[in-house]
Order: sequence, then structure tokens, then C-alpha cells
Amino acid sequence: MKNAHALDQDHFRDELSNVDKKGKRLWIYPKKPKGNYYNYRTWFAWFLMVLMFAGPFLKLNGRPLLLLNVLERKFIIFGMVFWPQDLNLFALLMLSFILFIVLFTVLFGRVWCGWACPQTIFMEMLFRKIEYFIDGDSGQQRKLATQEWNTEKIAKRAVKHTLFWILSFVIANTFLGYVIGIDELKLLVHDGPLAHVGKFAALAIFTTVFYFVFSSLRELVCIFICPYGRLQGLMLDKNSMVVAYDFVRGEPRGKLKKSEDLAPIGDCIDCKLCVNVCPTGIDIRNGTQLECINCTACIDACDEVMVKIEKPKGLVRFASLNNINEGTKLKLNLRNGAYGLVLLALLSVFIYLLATRKQVETTLLRTPGMLFQKQADGKISNLYSIEFVNKTFEELPIELKLIEPVKGEIRMVEGNNVVVHKESVAKVSFFLLFEPSAIEKINTPIKIQVLSNGKLIEEMKSKFNGPVYKGGIK
Ligand code: SF4
Ligand code: SF4
Repeated sequence: MKNAHALDQDHFRDELSNVDKKGKRLWIYPKKPKGNYYNYRTWFAWFLMVLMFAGPFLKLNGRPLLLLNVLERKFIIFGMVFWPQDLNLFALLMLSFILFIVLFTVLFGRVWCGWACPQTIFMEMLFRKIEYFIDGDSGQQRKLATQEWNTEKIAKRAVKHTLFWILSFVIANTFLGYVIGIDELKLLVHDGPLAHVGKFAALAIFTTVFYFVFSSLRELVCIFICPYGRLQGLMLDKNSMVVAYDFVRGEPRGKLKKSEDLAPIGDCIDCKLCVNVCPTGIDIRNGTQLECINCTACIDACDEVMVKIEKPKGLVRFASLNNINEGTKLKLNLRNGAYGLVLLALLSVFIYLLATRKQVETTLLRTPGMLFQKQADGKISNLYSIEFVNKTFEELPIELKLIEPVKGEIRMVEGNNVVVHKESVAKVSFFLLFEPSAIEKINTPIKIQVLSNGKLIEEMKSKFNGPVYKGGIK
């Protein structure tokens, strides 16, 4: 049976740091972080933010580097266009990406969340910095929150939330730039909202959502909303490198006393600085927790304490459970190896499919539910439709040629000048006509070539339905 002290230490198992006993949210005021890891993280975040904000403006051969136009179902990744017809490629790419994240998480925990996730980067490197600048560090923020609404509080709140709103608007514009493309976004700015009501409404919604996320939801996104965060419990094992407290070295913890005899045995002096800097409000000394985003703020805080009390740094550090318990180094196990092999196989298939991907796709269909027709000149016809997906960035003049059986005629419904515009889909209809004497079967196999500027694009097969019955022509 557990004693009262143990039960007190176990409270984190059924309580959340940001919710009180009545279920009301407790606002987290993390102390301003500082230290080596925070400096590295700041540089890395600025590098990513420059990339993110510049992304919509970057072009490769006149095309966006990255465009995720879900509305028109058109995606450009590193200048390559993907259409709904490339769904297999896109799905494979997404699968490889998810597997990469899983493998990365198995080995290095939730580093993505703390170091590269846009939610953390914007929150910690932009919004939180503005908050520290206007409201002060955690103690001053607490005081401001509880003080009455005087001129100082109103002014600070007004300035902070105006800046939050402007920043959310900039992020929303960037986000929209990735969805509709920078040229469309420039048009929206140039023509004004009334000329593009739908896009302006989307911009207003994105701005509001971002403002709500960064001014109010904050750590709730990482703890409750993000599916990746909730799945990490399935991915981590005892060899995963995560931000961890070295309980072997730190326990039993205790306050630093002047007398040598009263000094705590472990290295942890229970100063709680690691807890105070945590943006999700947890105590890393309770072990790996779902709320930990591996931001490393607690490592910096504890290292500073260790330097002050003249103990080695690294009481809180990147380590695996086995590393802390037995001193073992990071090693690959069967699961990691298997994930790696599957990832390699998926990437190989993806590269092969990408390399052999057709630039123009065609689909030939005989008009469903329609049998043959007899034309005025006595010829027998079937109606077909053909769809072209032009994934290139050039206009393609299209020509159809019947190669089997050769004694037939193709008559385009909308005229002979068929041009498929760049990056677009076109559908045309045509009649295929034969002299009745040339028809020998009810379903005659046919072959049609699609040519552009004399170059063969594709050869397609179909059937021609003719007026033949058992024993001869009708
Ligand atoms: S426990 Fe440490 S690494 Fe995890 S979220 Fe809190 S401060 Fe960041
Ligand atoms: S900062 Fe270090 S010494 Fe202080 S409570 Fe946390 S683990 Fe213990």
C-alpha cells in the first residue's frame, strides 16, 4: 500500500496541470526560458519561419515551390504538379511522411513538437515573446491577470491583443498563399475584399482561428487536439531518447540546506525551476508524459541550477529510460529496423512511380447506355468521350488516329482543333464510323492513338458496338 507521500507524488497520474479539481482551466504562466538549448531553438525557429513566410513567394521555373490547393484539388510540391489522378503518389508520399515521423518519434520522441511544429514555433517564438515584452515574466503576468482593470491593464491588453491579431492576420495570409497561390493572393490585395468575397471570408476565418489558437487555446492544442501528441504513447519505448529527468542521480530530492549533514542525497534540490519554465505546466521529474513536447526549456533551467550548486549539468537531459537505468547508449532494435525497411520500400516505390508518371493522362469511354447509330450516309457510328489531363506547363494540340481496324473514320463532335490547355483537364466527344460491310462482330476491338505535334502520347483500346446478329448483319 502506498504511503501519503507516495500518493501525493502520484497525483499527476489522474490530474492535469492546467485543470483544477472542478474541471476549470488553470492558465499557465511559464517562466521566460533561457540557456543554450533555447538559443539553438531560437535560431532554428527563425530559420524555419523565414522559410515558412517566404514559401508562397518562392518559385521554380515560374511555378510555386509548394502549393496545396485543396479547393481545385491541385498540389505542387517542389515544382511538380500532382492531380487527383496522382492520388496513389500523393497517398504514398503521405504514408512515407507519417512513417518517417513514427520512426523519428520512436528514436527521438516528440522533438518535432518542440522544435519544428508551426504551432510551437509561432507560440513560443512570436506570441509568447510579445507577451513577455508587454506583460513581463511569469510573476508579473500573474499579478496583471489578478489586478483590477486600471489604465495599465487596459492599455497592455489592448496593445497585446492588437499585435496578436495582426500577427494572426499575417500567418493567415501566408497559409492562404500556400492554398490559393501568391498570385491569387496578390489579386485579393489589389482588387479588394468585395471583388473576392469567398477568399476574403476564408482569410477572416483563418485569422480568427489563429488568433484563438495562440491567444487562448495554446497548450491545449498539444495536449488534447493534436492526434500526433496523443499517439506518442504508442510509439515510445524504453530506448526512445526523450527529455528526461535522471531519477537515479536526482533522487531522493530535497531542498538545499546549509549544513552538509542536512544536504539532500540526490542532486535535485526541488527548486521547481524545471516546472516553472514548462509551457505545458508539467513536472518532468514525474517521468515521460503525454503533455511533454520536448521543448528542452526544463533542460536549460536545470542546467543553470546545476552550475550554481556546482554539480554536473544534465540532471534533466535527452536520454532514454534504459540510458538512465543502465547507462546504455541509443541502439537500434528490431522494431526500428523494420520501420526503416518499410520506409525504404515505400520511398523506392514512390521514386519509381514518380519517374514513370505520365505527363498526359487519357481516359477513353464509349458513351454508356448508348448503342450504335445509323448515320444519313449509311455509316454506322458509336459515340465516345475522351478525357485528357495535361500535367505539363504547355498547351497540347491533340490529334486522334484510328489504327485498328484501319477502315474507319473519326469525326470530332466539337471540331477538329482540340487543344488541351496547360495544367488543365479537357473532355471531348467524337464519333467513330464504319461502313456496315466493315463490321463483322457485335463488339469489334478498336485501337486509337492520341498524338500531339506528331508525337505519340498514348495508345488506347476500346470496343465498337455494331449491328450484327447471329448469322449476319441486321
Ligand atoms: S517537460 Fe520540459 S521538455 Fe517537456 S514540455 Fe515541459 S519544459 Fe518542455
Ligand atoms: S530544476 Fe533541476 S534541481 Fe530544480 S527541481 Fe528541477 S530537476 Fe530538480
